Amino acid sequence: MNAGEQLCLACGLCCDGSLFDHVQLGPGDDAKKLKALGLPVVVSRSSTPVARFRQPCAALCADRTCRVYADRPLQCRTFECGVFKDAQAGRIKFSAALRVVKRARQRVDDVRRLLRELGDTEEHRSLNERFRRTQRRMESGGADAAAADTFAELSVAVHTLNVLAFRKFYTKADAPEPT
Ligand code: SF4
Ligand code: SF4
Repeated sequence: MNAGEQLCLACGLCCDGSLFDHVQLGPGDDAKKLKALGLPVVVSRSSTPVARFRQPCAALCADRTCRVYADRPLQCRTFECGVFKDAQAGRIKFSAALRVVKRARQRVDDVRRLLRELGDTEEHRSLNERFRRTQRRMESGGADAAAADTFAELSVAVHTLNVLAFRKFYTKADAPEPT
């Protein structure tokens, strides 16, 4: 296993709903085949139909390998985050890249813990979606002071994760739209 593969197996953030809400299929991707392989591909009914499936990805295994690796969509085959690119190009050492990944995973764990404390246990949804839903729930009123404090902590944790993601992981082309 090369250093890049080791880095991704220590990470998995571009598959587990931490960095992205969904994977969009591209030219050459076989939606039917991916569906048959267990990926919940849906096609939008817009004038330009878009096929995509939600993250966390159903093909992501516990050891962070991809169950459909040989058939993974174009987005998965072409995406390389900033940390990965920097390490591959020798701009940073792989040990430094691993430290960034570890830090990001700790931030993700913080967000997940706080979401659970606020009653959201939907681990099969992306972090962004879970946060937005929790935010709507909190803003609709009725939260006690302790929940309001936890939500404030969650908002800071999400912001900290986003800053790290935009600085180290997304490239301009793949950064999600601000919500
Ligand atoms: S976010 Fe980067 S380091 Fe992590 S799995 Fe994806 S490409 Fe690899
Ligand atoms: S298909 Fe594989 S590479 Fe693509 S998001 Fe799912 S687990 Fe990751």
